Amino acid sequence: MPFEMPPAGRVPLCVPDLGGNEWTYLKECLDTNMVSSVGPFVGRFEKMVAHCVGANHAVATVNGTAGLHLALRLAGVGCGDEVLVSTLTFIAPANAIRYQSAYPVFVDAEFDHAQMDPAVLVRFLREGCELRDQETFNRTSGRRVKAVLPVHILGHPVDLDPIREIAREFHLAVVEDASEALGASYRGHAIGSGEAPCVFSFNGNKIITTGGGGMLTTSDRHFAERARHLSTQAKADPVECEHDDIGYNYRLTNLQAAVGCAQMESLKTKVRAKKAIAARYQCGLADTPGIQIMAEASWADSTHWLFTVLVDEQAYGMTSRALLRLLAENYIEARPLWQPLHRSPAHADAFMLPCPVSDLLWDRALSLPCSVGLSESQQSRVIECIQRNRCA
Ligand SMILES: *Cc1c(COP(=O)(O)O)cnc(C)c1O
Repeated sequence: MPFEMPPAGRVPLCVPDLGGNEWTYLKECLDTNMVSSVGPFVGRFEKMVAHCVGANHAVATVNGTAGLHLALRLAGVGCGDEVLVSTLTFIAPANAIRYQSAYPVFVDAEFDHAQMDPAVLVRFLREGCELRDQETFNRTSGRRVKAVLPVHILGHPVDLDPIREIAREFHLAVVEDASEALGASYRGHAIGSGEAPCVFSFNGNKIITTGGGGMLTTSDRHFAERARHLSTQAKADPVECEHDDIGYNYRLTNLQAAVGCAQMESLKTKVRAKKAIAARYQCGLADTPGIQIMAEASWADSTHWLFTVLVDEQAYGMTSRALLRLLAENYIEARPLWQPLHRSPAHADAFMLPCPVSDLLWDRALSLPCSVGLSESQQSRVIECIQRNRCA
């Protein structure tokens, strides 16, 4: 039986916080007629993100998926290649691999933080692949393995050092999907400041949003120039309509970038709010049997973008999905993690490795409300609901 709608209303999972200069900057776009991708906010937004993550260059894109597609193409991923990618992630990076007519090979997660497990990657490359003339081939599928694409999920960084090391040994390009991890850092270095090209997303539920948008950051000037060129239909001349390559219409508009600039001004505040929310959940749910809080790794400074717990049916007395329904009946929006991609019919033709840990995490995990604007009383309602409905 659904409860009556509480006076404070429903608690959404993760909604944008647009309380800064968004209106002012948008009005400036309209007042100056600068609405398309030519406009001052695009460059300004790129500079702000580059500066924030400590990258030399940043190229704004129409969304994160487009940024990933550009990064993979520039990393030399082509027809029939394989790319090692996290299985426990939103589907966008695997789709971007297919846009290059390459194939994903899904890598399982480690249990403690739900990120790509470097040990699985190392085992597959050492035991399932071989090096020939500085290129790596999958012994079973026969395909060339060209790149590895770790995805920093839920605001928490992947353990990058062992991935970088094994990638170097097997001559693989690295592209990072940091769509969910703007503001996070790995061993003291901001995600996006490394050598590998890195992609961020500004979709509606991300830590900052432009409605839709993305950013590719890189330390390599040539890479950035090529990305910018390809994202503007490879237009080769400033005056003449001439194009020297197959490009894309992947540029972000000035309108979106204006929102992005306003959002970036409060990124630090937003990260602080997310961390405070995480700390309150950690405290409030610490003694609830069967509810496991995912730990922050020793290498990680996580933003806790999407705060996620694991529900142990035995100890809690109900499954994660039953808790999901109970929360919904209390007008609280929670969400399971993504179906691991090795289970997705969209990628059924990929070369498959076993991914038992991701299956387990998918079964148990539930992301809890964590909008930047979540009030303490709303959060107490969530915590109490999880505690109260425990049947064990
Ligand atoms: C949001 C997201 C993307 C990119 O999404 P867009 O909507 O294209 O910006 C890519 N990868 C992950 C893991 C994401 O969460």
